[in-house]
Amino acid sequence: MRTWYRELTFSTKQRQEIVDVTSLVLKAVRDSKIKNGILVVQLPHATASLVLNENESGLKQDLLEKLDDLIPVRGGYQHDRIDDNAHSHLKAALIGSSRVLPVVDGEVIRGTWQNFLVIEQDGPRTRRLAIFIMGE
Ligand code: ZN
Repeated sequence: MRTWYRELTFSTKQRQEIVDVTSLVLKAVRDSKIKNGILVVQLPHATASLVLNENESGLKQDLLEKLDDLIPVRGGYQHDRIDDNAHSHLKAALIGSSRVLPVVDGEVIRGTWQNFLVIEQDGPRTRRLAIFIMGE
C-alpha cells in the first residue's frame, strides 16, 4: 500500500464566495496513480469550509444566504473584539474542513452533483488545499 500527498493553492476573489476545486482534486487523484484507496481532502483553514454539492449559481447563492441567516456577519460575537471575522469561524466550525471519499478503479466515488466546493467566508486570499491518498 502507498500513500501520496500534495498541497495545492488557489485564490479566492471575494469576501464571501463559493469556489469549485473539483478539477484540482481529480487531477491530484490521477497524478497519484493510486487506483483503489481512500482520499482525504482537507482545507487547512479556520474561516473557510469544504462541502460536496452542486455547482449551480442559484444553489451557491442559496448556500451563502442561508449561512448568513444562521450566522449573520455582525452577530455581537466575542471573537469580533479581536479579529472581526467571528462569523467566518463559526460557519467553518459548523460545516467542517475535510471530506473522505473512496477511490475505486481510479474514480472518486461521488454523486453526479457532488462537486468539491470551498465556501470562502474571509476572503479574498490565497487558500491551501491538502490532498492525501492511501491505497494501491
Ligand atoms: Zn479570527
